[in-house]
Amino acid sequence: MSFKKFTKIYAAIMLIIFATFVYMYFSIDTIKKDLDTNIDKLIINLTRGFVNNIDKNIKNSISKDSIVEQLHSDSKLRKYIENIISTISTDSLQYVYILYRDKNGVYRYLVDGSFKDRGELDQPLNVKQEEWDRAYKTKKDRVFYQKDIDMLWTTYLHPIVQDGKTEAILAIDFSFNLKNKIKETIKPLDIYFIFIFLAIFILALIFLLELYINYKIKQESYIDTLTKAYNRHYLRAFLDEENIDKYQILMIDIDYFKKINDNYGHKAGDVVLAGFADVTRQTIRDGDIFFRYGGEEFLVFVETNENIDIAEQIANRIKDRVEETKFIFEDRVIQITVSIGINKYPKNFKSIDQAIKYADEMLYLAKRDGRNCIRMEQKDKNSLNKLSIAEIKEAFDNNAIECYYQPIYSKTTQKILKYEALVRLIQKDNKVITPYLFLDKIFATTLYTELTQIVINSVFQEIKRLNVHISINLNFSDILDNKIYKLLIDSINRYKEYASFLTIELLEYEKIENISALRKRIYEIKSYGVSISLDDFGSGYANYEVFKQLPIDIIKIDGSLIKDLPNSIISYKIVKSIIIFAKELNIATVAEFIHSEEVLESAKKLDFDYLQGFYLSVPKKEIPLS
Ligand code: GH3
Ligand code: MG
Ligand code: MG
Repeated sequence: MSFKKFTKIYAAIMLIIFATFVYMYFSIDTIKKDLDTNIDKLIINLTRGFVNNIDKNIKNSISKDSIVEQLHSDSKLRKYIENIISTISTDSLQYVYILYRDKNGVYRYLVDGSFKDRGELDQPLNVKQEEWDRAYKTKKDRVFYQKDIDMLWTTYLHPIVQDGKTEAILAIDFSFNLKNKIKETIKPLDIYFIFIFLAIFILALIFLLELYINYKIKQESYIDTLTKAYNRHYLRAFLDEENIDKYQILMIDIDYFKKINDNYGHKAGDVVLAGFADVTRQTIRDGDIFFRYGGEEFLVFVETNENIDIAEQIANRIKDRVEETKFIFEDRVIQITVSIGINKYPKNFKSIDQAIKYADEMLYLAKRDGRNCIRMEQKDKNSLNKLSIAEIKEAFDNNAIECYYQPIYSKTTQKILKYEALVRLIQKDNKVITPYLFLDKIFATTLYTELTQIVINSVFQEIKRLNVHISINLNFSDILDNKIYKLLIDSINRYKEYASFLTIELLEYEKIENISALRKRIYEIKSYGVSISLDDFGSGYANYEVFKQLPIDIIKIDGSLIKDLPNSIISYKIVKSIIIFAKELNIATVAEFIHSEEVLESAKKLDFDYLQGFYLSVPKKEIPLS
């Protein structure tokens, strides 16, 4: 989950909590209001009951005369009624009294049952005239709120009706006490609500905090501490979650990084790594994703947005900016270059791992081409005939990798002395494909190791079956490759008694960088009785230093020199001198590429030990039983 996504969810949760809060706050307010009106209703209903009882009582105790006249003339009766109404007088029902209206419309006391401030008979009282008049007129109970008088809340008016005429009004003034008491009792409800709110809020906060901490921890476990790039752990998670069809892949490796560690120390290396990561991060765009893939190897997933050249553009920008940047470590200025492999079409691959591997292969080619450069699949004619990784993989899956064997003849006897194993890929339509069309594609991949294993196994089986000498081809870099070296030594050990039938033809593919390690391994191989041959000698990097360092038994003189033998006196002389030199060192010589009678005749004039070529025999699927 990206941080953006996380903040969105976070904001949503916060919003929900806030909304709930607001809703609850307002609903408690309505609840309180409801309660308020309910209290009013309750009190009024109760009062109505009381009042009706009192009304009955009064009417029972008076004769048919008007109540006003009777109470004026009968003080005992007045006292009696006063007692009745005073029973409901409490500190909540502040005043209970009966008033009559005189001819002038003034309200005067008839009876007062209040605790205090009692009015005398006929004493006028300043009342809310219209409310009282209306009660008089309508003969119906009324309730009105006392807005103007402090301490008073509501007044209940009950007209005392005799013979269809309002004679007097029984009035009850409520103080706030009652209501306040009721409110007081429900007040804790408010506090409970606040507590519940707070509790929910705090819980939500804790929950969010925990969520955030968890998220952070997860984020951190996904980030490489040194470079702050995503690590491989995250790469896995990312690949599980995302469809990578919209990305192109860059595989970036710092050139000769080991030298920085060696020359300036590991700390300097770290500074460069972190600095390189910064530069890259500043160069890629928002949607691009940057991973540390290995020690000094990085992956960038470049978002394509339909622009198929975008990966190449970004790769170029990274390469240029890195080259321009001066990394500073303890007053030293360190400059680096990078090699980049690009996979423009990851969609075309069966799995994302294969797509990444392909970018890695392109990186390998960039390294091989001298570093500080970018490589991607070439669409030129030359590579059109080359097999795709998918085709090669399919051949491996179908066990269609085989060895063909080309005889090597003795120059003197013209007899076959040994064979060279040559790897072939057999396509579905039985077309036989030479390594040139597929080998470099799988270089430095596990397929290459697999291929080497297939060749070594096949060869040892043939040696065992026929007791013939067979040579295989390996690069110096293969010997230095731990995996390949191990499988070679393991195989030799397994077929120990046949080891002396094996020759390893080493190709001087590129400059040997670690000669002492190579030397050790070659001696180890030789100790089993395996012969060492130098392939394609006289071309490319050929140098004579190798004879000083390595125990060479045979040299195979490069085909470009051999095929020129009939026509070029220079080639002839070069070859002749190589043979003389070899003889001096007790090294046998092979003329390869004998592709015509003419070449054969020229080669015969020279002091070769072995001859090999299409003219003598093409590579064959089977070694014929002689
Ligand atoms: P090439 O040009 O072929 O890429 O050669 P190179 O020297 O850059 O590559 P190589 O793979 O031979 O060496 C990489 C080195 O990076 C080996 C390892 O010790 C070093 N390395 C790996 N991780 C770190 C790290 O975190 N810090 C430092 N300082 N060095 C590292
Ligand atoms: Mg490197
Ligand atoms: Mg490397």
